[in-house]
Amino acid sequence: MATMEKLSNYIDGKLTPPVSGHYLDNIEPAAGTAYSQLPDSDEQDVALAVAAATRAAPAWAATPIEKRSALLHRIADLIEQRLEELARAESIDNGKPIALARTVDIPRAAANFRYFASAIINFTSQAYVTPDKGLNYTLHQPVGVAGCISPWNLPLYLFTWKIAPALAAGNAVVAKPSEVTPMTAFLLSKICIEAGLPAGVLNIVHGLGNKVGEAIVVHPDVPAISFTGGTATGQRIAAKAAPMFKKLSLELGGKNPNIIFADADLDEALATTLRSSFANQGQICLCGSRIYVQQEVYDKFMDAFVAKVRKMQVGDPLEETTKTGAVVSEAHMHKILDYIRLAQEEGGTIVAGGERVVPEGRCRNGYFVQPTIITGLDIGCRTNQEEIFGPVVTVQPFATEKEALALANGTGYGLSATVWTSNLQRAHRVAAALQAGIVWINCWLVRDLRTPFGGMKQSGVGREGGMHALEFFTETKNVCVKV
Ligand code: NDP
Repeated sequence: MATMEKLSNYIDGKLTPPVSGHYLDNIEPAAGTAYSQLPDSDEQDVALAVAAATRAAPAWAATPIEKRSALLHRIADLIEQRLEELARAESIDNGKPIALARTVDIPRAAANFRYFASAIINFTSQAYVTPDKGLNYTLHQPVGVAGCISPWNLPLYLFTWKIAPALAAGNAVVAKPSEVTPMTAFLLSKICIEAGLPAGVLNIVHGLGNKVGEAIVVHPDVPAISFTGGTATGQRIAAKAAPMFKKLSLELGGKNPNIIFADADLDEALATTLRSSFANQGQICLCGSRIYVQQEVYDKFMDAFVAKVRKMQVGDPLEETTKTGAVVSEAHMHKILDYIRLAQEEGGTIVAGGERVVPEGRCRNGYFVQPTIITGLDIGCRTNQEEIFGPVVTVQPFATEKEALALANGTGYGLSATVWTSNLQRAHRVAAALQAGIVWINCWLVRDLRTPFGGMKQSGVGREGGMHALEFFTETKNVCVKV
């Protein structure tokens, strides 16, 4: 049997094996088999990475902004040049359809570098003049070494969404991708070497969350942690980081409502709801997993929605025509299937899907779940309260706007919400009343990178995106000069 490719950490500008010499298998979810190995790193590797970052940070902070910006543009260029290789790697690593990786994930990773390469040039200070007294001005200074920890669902997209602003703002970075999807982060290391990023400015340490992630979080020389992942992990990170007074940005889970009023354009609502429910097998933190439809149009919507979902084909993510691929791991597949069983125990009816799919050929051992629609559950049950993070939605009718809002706001999460209506006043009124960090009206997943992004309630603390991210990765000092 051919030996499997071994991925490396990227520390101090070099591809580096883990100190322990231990590796973990990297599984291709569509095939259900290991296809490479990643470093099973630990606190020793994190210590080396933080030391390299600490050495590199002062010179990087002193590098003229234009030069930092040019280097980030160069990384974006190389990502674009390697689009096909990266999209294939992400599809194999994650199980997502290659067409999605090619058109969304990888272009967005390049866009993250490009956007922050430009944003840093426009990152301004403020000045406040108090006549005859003083001039106050703000000074944004890099925090030093930033820790960035990201999840598996949009591997390169979310990894670069943190790394790019941290680097642009003049920090050195120690980053950990999800152990479940390490490949594109590994390829990014090679791209950074080729781009000429100075040694130690970006360090990528692969391995398990409770070893590598936690070692980054508790390291005394990493004063800022930007984390995207599950709410339980976020709680643990907050508990560890708070006594050390670290800066924290936590982008956590969601249980997002999708409200469809009777006055909506139903065709558009239906087409977009299919995407917002099942894109990336429902493994996008912004997917709408609770759909509320006004009584007058409930039957009409459901007839069309159920018919379309029953026709959705699940298959090999490397096939160009596949729209629904594999879920990310065997454990995650079982978690999703357990939730579907729980929904039935709670009195729910499966009106579409509900089963594991076993394709023929190379994917026969892969982790596939049918797109699933469940009805008949009330808001208090676990199926409607807990994040499933798979191709599973619940649907429920509502009578009034007040009832829709009570349902929508009736969980501990508050990441995003989608509203379908042609009534302008209602759109604004409902947007203001929804407890969610982002509200889409008659659209989904449309976002300008300059706008703030983050959750309310258990969906997170802090805002990423645009100048918010640059502010997070800098200390803002207030200087007052007597006049
Ligand atoms: P996890 O919370 O399990 O993991 C996220 C990252 O944290 C991974 O790199 C993980 O490593 C690491 N990690 C795990 N334990 C620790 C620890 N104790 N200390 C430090 N780091 C740790 O999330 P998932 O990877 O399962 O991602 C899915 C979750 O992410 C969902 O809840 C989803 O909603 C959320 N998410 C939120 C987004 C947002 O913007 N709000 C966007 C995308 C996803 P390892 O992989 O080795 O466990």
